[in-house]
Amino acid sequence: MALNVVIAAPEAVPFAKTGGLADVAGSLPAALSRLGLRVVLFMPFYRQVADKGFELEPTGIEVAVPMGRRVVRAEALLGHHQGVPVYFIKRDEFFDRTYLYGTPEGDYFDNLERYAFFSRAILEVLKARNLSPDIIHCNDWQTGLIPAYLRDMYRGEPIFRKTATVFTVHNIAYQGQFPANLYDATGLSFQLFNPEGLEFWGSINLLKAGLVFSDAITTVSKAYSREIQRPEYGYGLDGVLRKRKDSVFGILNGVDYSEWDPESDPAIPENYSPSDLKGKSACRKKLLKAFGLKGIKAKTLLIGMITRLADQKGLDILSEAMPELMKMDIALVILGSGDRSHQEGLKELSARYPERLSVRIAFDSELSHLVEAGADAFLMPSRYEPCGLNQIYSLKYGTVPIVRATGGLDDTVRGYPDEDGNGFKFKEYSASALIEKVAEAVDVYSRKKEWTTLQRRGMADNFSWDDAAAKYLEAYNTAKARLHKS
Ligand code: ADP
Repeated sequence: MALNVVIAAPEAVPFAKTGGLADVAGSLPAALSRLGLRVVLFMPFYRQVADKGFELEPTGIEVAVPMGRRVVRAEALLGHHQGVPVYFIKRDEFFDRTYLYGTPEGDYFDNLERYAFFSRAILEVLKARNLSPDIIHCNDWQTGLIPAYLRDMYRGEPIFRKTATVFTVHNIAYQGQFPANLYDATGLSFQLFNPEGLEFWGSINLLKAGLVFSDAITTVSKAYSREIQRPEYGYGLDGVLRKRKDSVFGILNGVDYSEWDPESDPAIPENYSPSDLKGKSACRKKLLKAFGLKGIKAKTLLIGMITRLADQKGLDILSEAMPELMKMDIALVILGSGDRSHQEGLKELSARYPERLSVRIAFDSELSHLVEAGADAFLMPSRYEPCGLNQIYSLKYGTVPIVRATGGLDDTVRGYPDEDGNGFKFKEYSASALIEKVAEAVDVYSRKKEWTTLQRRGMADNFSWDDAAAKYLEAYNTAKARLHKS
């Protein structure tokens, strides 16, 4: 019998996106359907979704969620993406906002309420629709309470009797921590608020709830699954993960090549392929123009970056390295959005080096395709990187990645000059290691034939969803086998 799977995600392409999780939630469901599973996706009905004008049907379902002293109602809307039904939880008080989780100044003050509500509303909609899932696949802290709810107030519900939970960590640094005095908003019984449950040094920790109460845990690369079990990368939760190490799986994200392929990408001025790379130079020209860089010669290595502006992304070593980098024959374009302090830092740098560094502060999916296609190399100097998608897109676009060897970057980029190298990678998290690698890339770029070999090798790599979906199916089966045992 085909497994019934519910995927709960706080964001999904094409509806709303802040980062890689949205790409995963946008394409994993269809890949699982191709394996014969019956999949539905749940996400909040954000203002972004309303603004994009998707055609959604009312379902007639209205659920009531007890939240502390009040009862909060939600409506469920239904849409589809790649043939998969998508339920949207609509409660404007919580989700009709400019941003998803917070402004550049910081998180929204009521995120606990917002996502406790989202998590519980999903279970209520499932009840109302009489859908009995084999698996609820939760993603990140926003959905971490679902496994706890199933162990607590939904324990006796016949419809969830055979429901196992899988919890995927897309980034362990974002944990959803809240002061204990807000505990009422979760609706959970107080027995769960202890160090064996979702308490974390006196606070509520939603990611920890997901880690402790789910039947299986996955994260988005093998290297990251090992790293987060060590104190340097575990953000305080490494011990919790070590305790559950037999239930932790590292599954590298796939990418959606129907969206990310230079042979068919409609967002770039000329398409190109491994056998005919000519179109890439038209993309390069358009990219330079889009970023207002003039007089950059073909022999200059054009490096692109697309990034959330967050500490994780290596912006500190990049800015320390900048004076040395700017002495090399390179130009750099950066597309990024996020923390105010990083925005300011980058703007200052681009004002200092206006001829060869251009920064665009925006979240612009269309432009991100042009950066992938038009740059010669792609830089990701991350302090840590659970999976990283842009280096995988870059490989497909013949845009050679220069990365720090961490998490998914380490799993997907093979360092040149190794025989099968597809990019450049440095180990130490430092400006000097970064400078050294960029210098190597500049050197290889000056030898056209060698560079083209490197480009073609990356373009031949394949990270499609089909492999990853098969591995999720294994994790689902493990979770089912362990149901109520963990
Ligand atoms: P993370 O999830 O940590 O942000 P990933 O590399 O896994 O990092 O995924 C980032 C995704 O978000 C990619 O699809 C990337 O292209 C996209 N992205 C990040 N910043 C921007 C931006 N400023 N404009 C457009 N797309 C962006």
